[in-house]
Amino acid sequence: MQKIYVNGQIYTGKLPLVSAFAVEDGLFTFAGSDAEARALAQPGDEIIDLGGRFVCAGFNDSHMHLLSCGLALRRAKLNEHTGSLRELVGYFRDFAKDGPNERGWIVGRGWNQDLFADERRMPDRRDLDQVSQEYPVAAVRCCGHVAAVNSKALELLGVTAATPAPEGGEIGLAGGEPDGRFYDAAMDLIWAAVPEVGKEDVKAMIRAACRRFNACGVTSCQSDDYATDWRLVNEAYRELKDAGELTVRVNQQANFHDVESLEAFIAAGNGPGAGDNLFRIGPLKMVADGSLGGRTAYLSRPYSDDPSTRGLMLYSQETLDAVIGCAHAHGMQVAIHCIGDGCLDAVLDAVEKALSAHPRADHRHGVVHCQITRPDQLERLVRLNMHIYAQTVFIDYDSRIVRARVGDLAESSYSWKTLMERGLTVSNGTDCPVELPDALRGIQCAVTRAPLAGGEAYLPKEAFTVQEALDSYTSAGARASFEERVKGRIEPGMLADFVMLERSPFDVPASEISHIPVRGTWLGGKNVYMRE
Ligand SMILES: [Zn+2]
Repeated sequence: MQKIYVNGQIYTGKLPLVSAFAVEDGLFTFAGSDAEARALAQPGDEIIDLGGRFVCAGFNDSHMHLLSCGLALRRAKLNEHTGSLRELVGYFRDFAKDGPNERGWIVGRGWNQDLFADERRMPDRRDLDQVSQEYPVAAVRCCGHVAAVNSKALELLGVTAATPAPEGGEIGLAGGEPDGRFYDAAMDLIWAAVPEVGKEDVKAMIRAACRRFNACGVTSCQSDDYATDWRLVNEAYRELKDAGELTVRVNQQANFHDVESLEAFIAAGNGPGAGDNLFRIGPLKMVADGSLGGRTAYLSRPYSDDPSTRGLMLYSQETLDAVIGCAHAHGMQVAIHCIGDGCLDAVLDAVEKALSAHPRADHRHGVVHCQITRPDQLERLVRLNMHIYAQTVFIDYDSRIVRARVGDLAESSYSWKTLMERGLTVSNGTDCPVELPDALRGIQCAVTRAPLAGGEAYLPKEAFTVQEALDSYTSAGARASFEERVKGRIEPGMLADFVMLERSPFDVPASEISHIPVRGTWLGGKNVYMRE
């Protein structure tokens, strides 16, 4: 039995738009006109009227951290309830009714006593005893430098008035007893007592993240999750997949720091492409430098707004050469986080050495972020035929700081359109939880090159068309994982992953794309999200 969708505005991956498509057994079977679609209908087929809405292939977030996103989602959002201490405790108590959210603990983050309208003091053990007396509770301040815990937690931690504070930290006391507040390094006492993450926790985080991604129209992601033990992560994904609970297709960007652990991983059956279209092992992932905001991205020269630093390179050239070389020799793809141009030199050196030792035409080795670039590096990226994992949503914040940070290097940076025009594939993503997993925000920034709330465009010549922006979030993402024949377009034979939007991004002003509501999301023809 087919499902035939008519009366829509369908972007198949090509223009012009069509009005109808059909799905059967998890695959697209047709895309074309309403008349053709109706002529296809067999007895028993279902015909669905799209009411003029827009449909395209499901979004593919080509670099993010799904598990970290799930963890962030599971913590109580104290930042949203910090109007008064009373409000905070009330919200947190309701939240705690579902039981522990983090390895036996109830954890929230985001309070700020400066914003409390009733009592401008930090919460203490007695406040948090009202949240739970049964389970340990921790409430982290918005800045992350102070945490308060309840009496149950103090008991579990074995912290008394006699407990010495570690260097760089402080344990709060009131009336000769611990008041439940831990400052800076003393918070390590809390985190050391939270048990190692277990498989059920990992599965709960994945479920929560999948729900959030589906609500943003995301049906595929390429996720770096091995900050948690890879065996546990793989088992959790596979069990959810077998139970039919994995509602985002995951390509795992396997993060390893050294040759030995990478070889052990591959030897355990995790070679290139291992898995299936729901959970697959993807490229080697490495993080080679820091961030622009924190001035830790590694530049070829000092920062313009802080000449005392060039940023941080996280690996030596030897280590990059060895690990990238090892992955490449095993036929594996690589995807390396690289924000500064100094870092990019080192990463491209390593890739070029690997390619000259073992030439391979269609390697699709990639640079994740690829932000600060010199003109000579744009040439080199093209010559080496690199894949670019961009995050166009970073324009929202970075466009305000990039010139201050890097001076005239800004004139050849974030040059993803130039790279695309020179023949490279540029896929898109959010680096979630760095940004919300919201594809439409990234699509808007790709088209406007300006902050989401408006403002001056940064290098407007690098703006994508709406079609290029949609492609970066669909077909280009599929190409990043060697799946361009499997998904990313609405074409017969491809996986029926699609998103329905209330309005067409081709019809609204570019500055309103991020406000288009996602109406529904389908994975393999099955509805996984519907707007209330
Ligand atoms: Zn990342």
